[in-house]
Amino acid sequence: MPANRYLVPFNPKRTPHFFTDILVIGGGIAGLRAALEVPAGLDVLVVTKDQLELSNSSYAQGGIAGVLSAEDRFENHIDDTLRAGAGLCDQAVVEMVVREAPAQINDLIRWGTNFDLEDGRLALTREGGHSHRRIVHALGDATGHEVMRAIIARARAAPNLTLWDNSFTIDLLTGDGPCLGALVDKPGHGRLLIWAKQTILASGGCGMVYRETTNPPVATGDGMAATYRAGAQLRDMEFMQFHPTVLYVAGSSRFLVSEAVRGEGAYLRDRNGVRFMPEEDPRAELAPRDVVAQAIVRTMERTQHPNVYLDLTHLNADVVRQRFPGIASMCRGFGLDITRELIPVRPGAHYMIGGVTVDVDGRTTVPRLWAAGEVTSSGLHGANRLASNSLLEGLVYGTACGRGAAAAAASEPDSLVVPRLSNRAQPDSAGSSLDVADITNSLRSLMVRKMGIVRDRDGLLDAERDVVFWCRYVLSRAFDDRAGWELQNLLTIARLMIWAATQREESRGVHLRSDFPARDDAHWQHHQVCPPNLVGASGTGSARDMI
Ligand SMILES: Cc1cc2nc3c(=O)[nH]c(=O)nc-3n(C[C@H](O)[C@H](O)[C@H](O)COP(=O)(O)OP(=O)(O)OC[C@H]3O[C@@H](n4cnc5c(N)ncnc54)[C@H](O)[C@@H]3O)c2cc1C
Repeated sequence: MPANRYLVPFNPKRTPHFFTDILVIGGGIAGLRAALEVPAGLDVLVVTKDQLELSNSSYAQGGIAGVLSAEDRFENHIDDTLRAGAGLCDQAVVEMVVREAPAQINDLIRWGTNFDLEDGRLALTREGGHSHRRIVHALGDATGHEVMRAIIARARAAPNLTLWDNSFTIDLLTGDGPCLGALVDKPGHGRLLIWAKQTILASGGCGMVYRETTNPPVATGDGMAATYRAGAQLRDMEFMQFHPTVLYVAGSSRFLVSEAVRGEGAYLRDRNGVRFMPEEDPRAELAPRDVVAQAIVRTMERTQHPNVYLDLTHLNADVVRQRFPGIASMCRGFGLDITRELIPVRPGAHYMIGGVTVDVDGRTTVPRLWAAGEVTSSGLHGANRLASNSLLEGLVYGTACGRGAAAAAASEPDSLVVPRLSNRAQPDSAGSSLDVADITNSLRSLMVRKMGIVRDRDGLLDAERDVVFWCRYVLSRAFDDRAGWELQNLLTIARLMIWAATQREESRGVHLRSDFPARDDAHWQHHQVCPPNLVGASGTGSARDMI
């Protein structure tokens, strides 16, 4: 039996309705950029599941990549992106995004973003995998905070935008195919059917499927899971990027130590003080993230130590404090002076490369549904995302989706006949009797153990067996709250990720199989599409039986 089409039962005759021209799900950089592209004559409703300020976008530290210096060329940024992507990037997409970067950064400046300056010009830094200095940043190491401050202010001032925070999108509404809006839970109103001429999904990633992650709690893959239930194509779910350097101190909530720290000259050392990256790669600490993260795992195993160390002690202390005020202050909270002491770090889940398949305009495979940002697989990142390319992707695809959805909505009549919604396979029992937090924690630990940086067939089959078993009794229930829906979405995402990682019998980019350590272009130089109906409450698709 396939999974329920909708997570909760609902009766359209007894559910309040709300109409808008365009519905945007997600208020990070991709969602708000999309909303701001819609002309004033069309109404836009933006829903976010928490405070508008809480998103991966607001957490971004390092910056936004763009060719802005006389020494740099578009071709360099394109080459760096393709090289990091390990043979899976879509070249046309890479070229489009890279060439649009300067204009997008200029728009942000026009809208009031204060990027850091050096001698009156944009200060540019360098990060792993980039051949040139081309990353603009703000407030030292709090780029996302500053960029989102400016974008949110502009969105709040736009008369055609309505912003609903703390409003959880449970599912997308599809009648006989096209997307017609979403089922949303809004505090004080309960469940609402939001009907939209066009819907833009910008609900971000799913780092919370791992216990160790840099992502904020909102990143539970809701949009990916809802889109999968709605029949859209998802692909490349095996490619979760791990950030190499996440602060490893008990109680630190896995705070990210930006790549820009290595860009400014920091070294990675093992527990014995040995600098190990020059042995691993000619680019040393500035190798792409997958190379650094995998080298760190090998080093931790070799030295039998749970972390490695970032060393900034040889850099100018004043420059370090001024350039990385957020990281300095976070570490100071744990009694660490980063100008004099080593910072303990280890990798953590950071960025979901796979997701909802979109074309160059941001169209998904479901009519009237567009998508932008981390929720998508656009072809930009291939098998490994180049640092600071994802805020840029959100800007470029957000703009494309806003423009495309607006053009489509403008040509549609205002009248809407509410379609019959086929809610086959209703959830059959209440979810309240389950200990949701316990299953969520078990899932997140399992993903670190069996679906982490290094994978193999036995571990993946173990992970699949557990996840399929949990799906059986979690996906068949109807929950009344966010924690339950998030668990159902996390299980769905985990199932797709484990399936994809099991299938791809090679190592490429961020996907490292110890049992298939070589890259295999002859068989695997292509995207991997998730099959429909893989995720079911009955455990369909399992390779082994649990009982
Ligand atoms: C710590 C950290 C540092 C980073 N640093 C950089 C960097 O320096 N440069 C760079 O390019 N990238 C960086 N990234 C990656 C980058 O921030 C993200 O990929 C990007 O911001 C994603 O933007 P988005 O708009 O797609 O999603 P997000 O910004 O995550 O926004 C998602 C939105 O969807 C909403 N949402 C989710 N589910 C639901 C639901 N069920 N109902 C309603 N709303 C929902 C959320 O509330 C949120 O508003 C970093 C990421 C992290 C975590």
